[in-house]
Amino acid sequence: QSSSLIVSFGEMLIDFVPTVSGVSLAEAPGFLKAPGGAPANVAIAVARLGGRAAFVGKLGDDEFGHMLAGILRENGVIGDGINFDRGARTALAFVTLRADGEREFMFYRNPSADMLLQPEELNLELIRSAKVFHFGSISLIVEPCRSAHLKAMEAAKEAGALLSYDPNLRLPLWPSPEEAREQILSIWNKADVIKISDVELEFLTGSDKIDDADALSLWHPNLKLLLVTLGEKGCRYYTKTFHGSVEAFHVQTVDTTGAGDSFVGALLCKMVDDQSVLEDEARLRDVLRFANACGAITTTKKGAIPALPTESDALKLLKD
Ligand code: ADP
Repeated sequence: QSSSLIVSFGEMLIDFVPTVSGVSLAEAPGFLKAPGGAPANVAIAVARLGGRAAFVGKLGDDEFGHMLAGILRENGVIGDGINFDRGARTALAFVTLRADGEREFMFYRNPSADMLLQPEELNLELIRSAKVFHFGSISLIVEPCRSAHLKAMEAAKEAGALLSYDPNLRLPLWPSPEEAREQILSIWNKADVIKISDVELEFLTGSDKIDDADALSLWHPNLKLLLVTLGEKGCRYYTKTFHGSVEAFHVQTVDTTGAGDSFVGALLCKMVDDQSVLEDEARLRDVLRFANACGAITTTKKGAIPALPTESDALKLLKD
């Protein structure tokens, strides 16, 4: 029996990761290609766990774009919502961890294909068949991609989907922190489920402590579930009627890239055919234990996509 469809909307790109760490971008002797992009990671996370996932977004009609579409396909993600742009190229990111521990980013996005998705290019039939519609692109601020986002969200909602949002704040990509905050909050009340990290909570509330009052200050009446992920401290959850926290698993962490996407994919996978988690705290806690396990496993291997777990990987950690 196959599960209901989860559609993830946004960008897919390639991170170029230096073969040597602790050097600046200019000094890197070479780069490895690591496919990523949070919305694409979420789609693959769902598919790897055995769920039905589709990715909606635009890629360049170039070598990298076709490579990424192939990766989605190989991982069992439905690709009927992918468009290819004839002119613009696939987004690229160069990410290095400098010797002083600072992360350095350089993006090829001027503009990249993902930012050019037009509202009229959307596969609305696919989007309307989603039971859960997840979004959280870093291109949510730029046109025409912003309009495409809003149209897709509306179509999914009208067709009865649950809307899930992860802001994926990447400050260097925004014109200013004020604009980032304003744009994120402008679509905040459209979502039923929101996942933010502790860093995003601090950024959005302007408070330097993470407490329930801060999280609840971000509550809106349409919201059904707010999650705050805390890395090795697990996660906190908030619904209209209850809130609490679920501890993380102890694992040998190598690289935390993709942990949040893995967490979201696992949560959506478990929720798509059983929305009782929104009202039943014990059930929600079980699902969040599963999502924490998936997040933890993703930190034990380098990269995001290669580190996303299968259901049996997660069950193994839950049993240990
Ligand atoms: P994001 O990637 O969005 O910043 P987190 O880093 O908080 O999200 O990770 C999401 C989830 O993955 C956490 O809630 C936690 O369950 C798990 N996780 C992340 N980092 C670790 C870690 N170092 N050890 C164990 N679990 C982790």
